[in-house]
Amino acid sequence: MSIQLTHQYLDLGQAFSRPVLPESFPEPKLLLWNTDLADELAISVTASERAQVFSGQLLASGSRPVAMAYSGHQFGQFNPQLGDGRAHLLGEHESANGQLVDIHLKGSGRTPFSRNGDGKCGIRPAVREYLMSEAMHALGVPTCRTLAVVSTGETVFREQPVPGAVVTRTAESHIRVGTFEHFAARNQPAELSTLVDFCISRHDFDTPESGPEKYLRFFSQVIDKQIKLLINWMRVGFIHGVMNTDNCLISGHTIDYGPCAMLGVYDPQTVYSSIDHQGRYAFGNQPAITHWNLARLAECLLPLIADDQDQAVHLIMPYIEGFSDRYNQAYRQMMAHKLGFNTADEEVSSCADELLKLMHANQMDYTHTMTALLDPDKDKSLSALNAWLSSWQQLLHKWNINKEHSVQQMKANNPLVIPRNHHVERILKQVEENGDLNELKTFLKVLKSPYQTSKHISQYQDLPTDQDQNYQTYCGT
Ligand code: AMP
Ligand code: MG
Ligand code: MG
Repeated sequence: MSIQLTHQYLDLGQAFSRPVLPESFPEPKLLLWNTDLADELAISVTASERAQVFSGQLLASGSRPVAMAYSGHQFGQFNPQLGDGRAHLLGEHESANGQLVDIHLKGSGRTPFSRNGDGKCGIRPAVREYLMSEAMHALGVPTCRTLAVVSTGETVFREQPVPGAVVTRTAESHIRVGTFEHFAARNQPAELSTLVDFCISRHDFDTPESGPEKYLRFFSQVIDKQIKLLINWMRVGFIHGVMNTDNCLISGHTIDYGPCAMLGVYDPQTVYSSIDHQGRYAFGNQPAITHWNLARLAECLLPLIADDQDQAVHLIMPYIEGFSDRYNQAYRQMMAHKLGFNTADEEVSSCADELLKLMHANQMDYTHTMTALLDPDKDKSLSALNAWLSSWQQLLHKWNINKEHSVQQMKANNPLVIPRNHHVERILKQVEENGDLNELKTFLKVLKSPYQTSKHISQYQDLPTDQDQNYQTYCGT
């Protein structure tokens, strides 16, 4: 086995994590192995050892597993005691380019943070995480990735008995807004300061050595990363579903694929999570929630910015207030690209807004409509857009954008295929009920090149016959 882990996070001190070993499992079997990611990270573990290593039965050299401590706001309510209740950070691995990457198991057993939970994960959410995170990565969305899924040979009890599994997640780090909240709530400024320094060094934030500017610059760059993440979610129609502050990474990557779903018919109010009764995490509410989550992070930073709280608030407020302008500007730019423009002015932005309004009013599919614009004469589904189409084409003409260039721009920003909910659920069912991985593998291959046509792609471009009207997702464990 050639994987050597460090334990930088453990070394931050006992306030940050608890040492705990993964549980033992009767019969670990490798279900999925991400060869591309293993190559990219220069992780080489022999095929015969993978099931053992990535279920936590065999520890890599240097590994000292911990469960990480964190708190968080869940649906707006503060929960002081969360933490890795069914996950182990095995350690950090140095990839070929010198970047440290967390190697994290999920479903690997109980920890001091488990409360009433069993510490386990079912095969379905484990494979869902693999499928969705790899699809998102290929779509160009910043995300944690999945290296492996190992079935444990154990039965896990959910609403019914299901096969258990362990997922191996890789991430630039697992520091969440909730990690900051953990120490802010306990009034531990020294730990908060350690955490900021850890993030600055791990994620190459560019900040001064000390003083209020250090924390303000840090915060401003966290905002940048969150906006970049959000813009990509909005671009591909991703609905996260549970944007609690413990699921909001400082690194700006997508984490927690529990109740996520893809947007079909364009409607900003779309919600699929069975527990999101108020639509807090609806598609169109995601920018407002990111803003809210960032405000929680800002509160945590106050004691580091200045001794005087009013002074600290005064200094950080412009960043909080500036969020909407920064987001809107990035959003307009992204929509302009989707429509083949290079930049957005008022006219381009109202053209994009008008299109979204028409898509909403006519119950049109977001992904399909955007790709149909590449050849509008061919697609009957665009008939409701006739007037809009000519004004869009006039605007492209006015901007003097050559056809080839705008087509290229559109193709790069509008996926031909996304992990549509009805396919995801059907394929997960085959895995859970029959242990059948064949179609999953075909689907994964198609999703790997979402901006290009490929063999089998048309099988996965169809719209759900019921428009996903009865679709529901679960935080599902
Ligand atoms: P999540 O909804 O996945 O963000 O998880 C929220 C919290 O519940 C985290 O502290 C998890 O570690 C914990 N948790 C979720 N499922 C389990 C489980 N099966 N056993 C123990 N803890 C769990
Ligand atoms: Mg979570
Ligand atoms: Mg979850």
